[in-house]
Amino acid sequence: MVSAVESQEAAAAEAAARGVKPRALLVSREAKASDTVVRAGSAVVGGGGFTVIAGPCSVENAEQMICSARIAQRYGAAILRGGAYKPRTSPYSFQGLGAEGLELLAQARRLTGLPVVTEVMDTADIDLVAAYADVIQVGARNVQNFCLLKKLGRVRRPVLLKRGLMTTIKEFLMAAEYILAGGNDQVILCERGIRTFETATRNTLDLSAVCVLKEMTHLPVVVDPSHAVGNRRYVKPLARASLAVGADGIMVEMHCTPDKALCDGDQSLTPKDFKNLMSELNAMHSLRRGWLAC
Ligand code: PEP
Ligand code: MN
Repeated sequence: MVSAVESQEAAAAEAAARGVKPRALLVSREAKASDTVVRAGSAVVGGGGFTVIAGPCSVENAEQMICSARIAQRYGAAILRGGAYKPRTSPYSFQGLGAEGLELLAQARRLTGLPVVTEVMDTADIDLVAAYADVIQVGARNVQNFCLLKKLGRVRRPVLLKRGLMTTIKEFLMAAEYILAGGNDQVILCERGIRTFETATRNTLDLSAVCVLKEMTHLPVVVDPSHAVGNRRYVKPLARASLAVGADGIMVEMHCTPDKALCDGDQSLTPKDFKNLMSELNAMHSLRRGWLAC
């Protein structure tokens, strides 16, 4: 099977042979030099700030969601996360509350004023998810679901696109290109770890991808250390590293009672962890402003 990148390269070679200069990809710095700033409700992603997206892996019930949302807001998250449709490895694991989860997210937004990001897995659910979400997430497993990407290009909602476990940076950018080509330039890229031979962590966080992406594309780049490492002990240092490397923000899982979480409890920060992380990031961000200005 020919990959999207290979066919794009073949098309470019053919155009070059005909003396036609290939058009720059819409995601590229050649097409747009200045950083894209994505806006979702009160939140801004890109343009020099450091945006924190936080919340539980999954929306489980009203109490859990509201408690987590209040913690996220209290300590300065800009966007609340929570999955209503969950891509689970096992079909017997909790699959999310679906539409009921979207309602709970809307309730959490009403109470905190925080915009919400949530995943869509099926093209059939896009309209429903778009009616509730301020940002629509495409998960790692769907990064090359081209039907989903094409449809999201026509939706008037920002998209948070997660890198796949096995996608190269080029393939990741081509996936984003589908959304931009459809007319939606409000795309946030999210590095969330890739699969390597290493088994000590859930995945391997590819922080070098942040530098490469920031050079190649004008789109904002955030890092999800939670899914990268799978263990809350490592989330804080890698969140700090993400800020230091120049990411536009992070997405972290945080749960009021991680021990009771129905999904990804081991990697979810406790409220206290989250509070500490936020004060460290605030201090580091002031320093970063200084060194980026040099
Ligand atoms: C998530 O962020 O809820 C998630 C499932 O992550 P990923 O798609 O990166 O595995
Ligand atoms: Mn998760």
